[in-house]
Formats: sequence, structure tokens, C-alpha cells
Amino acid sequence: MFENLQDRLGSILNGLTGRGALSEADVSAALREVRRALLEADVALEVVRSFTDRVREKAVGAGVLKSIKPGQMVVKIVHDELVEMLGSEGVTIDLHAPAPVVIMMVGLQGSGKTTTTGKIAKRLTERDRKKVLMASLDTRRPAAQEQLRQIGEQTKIDTLPIIPGQSPTDIAARAVQAAKLGGHDVVILDTAGRTHIDEPLMVEMADIRKKANPHEILLVADSLTGQDAVNLARNFDERIGVTGLVLTRMDGDGRGGAALSMRAVTGKPIKLIGVGERMNELEEFHPRRIADRILGMGDIVSLVEKAAENIDAEKAAAMAKKMQSGKFDLNDLADQLRQMQKMGGMGGIMGLMPGMAGMKDKMSAAGMDDKVFGRQLAIISSMTRAERSNPDMLKHSRKKRIAAGSGSNAAEINKLLKMHRQMADMMKAMGGKKGGGMMKQMMG
Ligand code: GDP
Ligand code: MG
Repeated sequence: MFENLQDRLGSILNGLTGRGALSEADVSAALREVRRALLEADVALEVVRSFTDRVREKAVGAGVLKSIKPGQMVVKIVHDELVEMLGSEGVTIDLHAPAPVVIMMVGLQGSGKTTTTGKIAKRLTERDRKKVLMASLDTRRPAAQEQLRQIGEQTKIDTLPIIPGQSPTDIAARAVQAAKLGGHDVVILDTAGRTHIDEPLMVEMADIRKKANPHEILLVADSLTGQDAVNLARNFDERIGVTGLVLTRMDGDGRGGAALSMRAVTGKPIKLIGVGERMNELEEFHPRRIADRILGMGDIVSLVEKAAENIDAEKAAAMAKKMQSGKFDLNDLADQLRQMQKMGGMGGIMGLMPGMAGMKDKMSAAGMDDKVFGRQLAIISSMTRAERSNPDMLKHSRKKRIAAGSGSNAAEINKLLKMHRQMADMMKAMGGKKGGGMMKQMMG
């Protein structure tokens, strides 16, 4: 079962500990399990393939840090890649167009277009203070237009009056016209679907599109769609052109593999998800949550975060060791500056340690201050590798080049070098003390 993905990966890769890097054979073994987890989550086969290929590329040769298990390392790579492929958060409906902004809802019958039309209209009305008009273009099912009218009544959002006998394109034109006259900011066109994709449906959608010139075309799809998700998304995108995806029934037991399939095939963002039948059950899309669900591991987030923490801790421990040995070069200083920025600057670090307040003043007197971290990093990155590992070679002409490259001056560079010397001396002195030294406590 997929809940045991972590265990399975762990046991497959346990033999690797200490070897330092993931080999192709080991990654392949792990990816067989990942592949099974993705298929269980209903991710379409062709997407599973391209996904595992991408992960393989990243994972082979990736370092296995001693403090985490190789299995965790692979899971982290898989999870990161999944989040990346699912896309960024906070992409929502784009209203940057002259009013009335036309939103066209497309999708198969029963996917949730009409319900989602109501949900989006309610959201835009309440959260964005927009005046919205909804229009049903579904002339195929007798009750469809009435269904939307009722949603309008319930949510107190305007719907286009029903005139029997009009074609979908005529209704679309009338809706845009009515929105102009009525001073609506947004008009949402709820179209008809079919139980499957066919030519008449695509022709109808293309005609409506031509007539209404929508700014957003949202493909509404049931998140429980399995292998068909790829076909569905590809067809609608190629024939009509979609600007975003909405996945419905995310409140169900499905693992949401369709999200990955549809996103991978169209490259279009998942803008919203439906999580229930009620009008307020519409949410923004969070790629991390869906990635966890697809992998079928409830605790993956904490697991992965812990792994990342361990990576930092391990780096820090290595650095502490280096410092104590007196081999603290400018590469190490740069690493340390970055680490400190990440940990909330000097104040953040010192605040965690008793009796360290005085040290903070001392260090800022030496030029080690939060505000200058960024500038110092710029100076260091303008140096060559040789210069970083051997600061003594930095004479006048080199300093001049570095100053030009980093937009600083000789005085700043000298200050940085002085600070580095002081720190290196301090590290060395403290490293000798019992208890492992301040830096180890600080970083470990
Ligand atoms: P349409 O044919 O595409 O317009 O689909 P409808 O909007 O009429 O929805 C079909 C059914 O799915 C209705 O019973 C809706 O209440 C239900 N539905 C729509 N979205 C969701 C959702 O996010 N979660 C759940 N549980 N049901 C939904
Ligand atoms: Mg409908």
C-alpha cells in the first residue's frame, strides 16, 4: 500500500547510507514504488512516465546526507518535483480586462460547471465587490437554465432572463449586451456539456468563444477523472484554448491525480478547487496539499521539512568543525551569512542563546550586522574560487576588480576581510573550549 511508500523506499535504499550519492539503479528501484503510488492516485500513465523521468534526472547523483535516510532524500526530491509541476499558488481568476469581463465555463456534463459558476459568482461578489451576471447557455437539458436561475436566486446574484428557443451563441451575445447595459463588471457563461467529448460540442464551444470573446476560459473537471483526464484537458485546450483549470469534488476520497495529469498536459494553472456542493465550498489551490495527497502520505510534509532541517543542521555541523580547525575561509563565511539571513539575522540567533547579548554588540562593532549581510555576500560572490579559499592573495588590483564587480569599494572589502579574520580567530579560540565551542552550539 502507498502509505508505506516511505518504508519501502527506506528499505530499498537503506543499503546506501554512507555511500554519498544515489546511483541510477537505486533511484530506479525507488521510482518503481513512486510510479505505483502515482498510478494508484489515478495520475495518467503518460504523465507518470514523464514525471518519473524528470525525477530520475534530478535524483541520480544527488547527495545523500548522513543525517537523513536515502529513502527520505528520494521522497523529498519526488515531493519537490510534484509541487513544482503542480504549479504556483495564488493564481486566481484574472479580471484585468475592460468590463464586462467574460468568463466562459467549459467541461463535460456533470463535472460541476453550473455549481462552480454560482460559487465563482458568489466569490467575486463578496470578496472582490464585483457586480456579476450569470447566464446559462445550456439549451440541451431543459432544466439547466432553471438550475442556474435558482442558484442566482439563492445567492442573490443576477441571472440573464430565460428566453426559450435561443441558440447558445445568441444567449452569449445577449448576456454580454445585458452586462454592458446593466453595469456588470463580470459575466459568467455556463455552457452545456456532453457525457464525452464529441465534435458538435467542440464546434459549439468554439462558436460561443468567437461570439463572446471570453477573457477567461475555465475548464471544469471532476477530480476523480482517471486516465481520461489527459484526453479531456488536451482536447479542450487544443480546440478551445483554456486559461485555467477548476477541479471539483476534491472533498471526495479521490487522490487527485487528475490535477497532475491536466496540469502537465496543458501547462495551465489550477485556479480553484471545489470541495462540496454548497456555494461557499470553493477554495484556492495549494500545490503542497495536493502533492501530499497524490503521494498518499499524510505526514509527508513534516517528513520532508524535517529532512530539509537535517540538511541544514548537517551543513552547520560540518561548518562548525571547519571553524574549530581554523580552516574558515570566505566560502564558509558566505555560507554562514546565508544561514544567518535564513535564521532571522544576528538578533534571531543571539536571542536564542543565554548570555549572548554582549556578543551581538561586539560583532556589530566588527561590521557584522544584518543590514550588511547582503552587501557582504555580493562582495564574496565577485571573488574567484581561489580568492575565496585563500583571502591572503587579495592585493590591491584584485580588490579593485572585486569592488567594480560588486558595486562596492576598497574600504568595504577591507572591512569584510578584517571581520573574516576576527571571526576565524574567534572560532579557533572557542573551538578549543570544552563543550564543543560556541559555533557548534549556535549552528548545531
Ligand atoms: P454541470 O453538468 O457541469 O453543470 O454540473 P453541475 O454543476 O450541475 O454539478 C453536478 C453535480 O455535482 C451536482 O449534484 C453538484 O452539486 C455536484 N458538485 C459540483 N461540484 C462539487 C464539489 O466540489 N463537490 C461535491 N461533493 N459535489 C459537487
Ligand atoms: Mg450545468
